[in-house]
Amino acid sequence: MEKILRIEKMESRFENHISMGNHVYIEQISNIKEKIASITFAGMVFLFFVLSASIVIDFLNFGILLIVILGCLLLLLYRTIMYDIIIPDKLIQIYKKAYYVYGFILIEPSLTERNSAQYYIDEVFLRKEGADDFVLSLMSGVLLEKRVCFKCKTDMDYLHYHRNNVSKTTTLQLEKIWKSHHVQIFCCGCYKKTIRKEKLEKLIKKRK
Ligand SMILES: [Zn+2]
Repeated sequence: MEKILRIEKMESRFENHISMGNHVYIEQISNIKEKIASITFAGMVFLFFVLSASIVIDFLNFGILLIVILGCLLLLLYRTIMYDIIIPDKLIQIYKKAYYVYGFILIEPSLTERNSAQYYIDEVFLRKEGADDFVLSLMSGVLLEKRVCFKCKTDMDYLHYHRNNVSKTTTLQLEKIWKSHHVQIFCCGCYKKTIRKEKLEKLIKKRK
């Protein structure tokens, strides 16, 4: 069965980061939105209770003024996160770096050229066995976080890592490893060097 793959940069798909934000569901963004909304709500409820209490025990006017100021600051913070700094920044970042694959967003696969992205993804989706697993893992809303080699600190690319290891390990397992920050991941070069060193050490032990 042949799969038709669509891959587009966010930049070419949407006019700007605002229209992208309106059209696409981005898990990270909606998580931030939910959290900030509930924190603001909880803060407002808390301030309301303090205000009622201060009226009951005949608090000084200054206290009420302070509570009103705190309430305004809380709202200002909410606005800043939602519309001015954090969320727009995230959206701009995604707009510039992410790819749109089959309706799913591939964030920062550290691919410099569009052609090479096309190459890797074509290969993973269309040729490899386990391509279905990979599509499934994308559908489960996986965000491909950036990782660096434990030893030499060069950027690593998920698709490259997936392609090199999928014959030995399942996609689900690979994904778990990639997302576990306590697991050390090596780039190809460092991995080979480590293996060579281990073999050498074993050889030396045998001779002794
Ligand atoms: Zn390395």
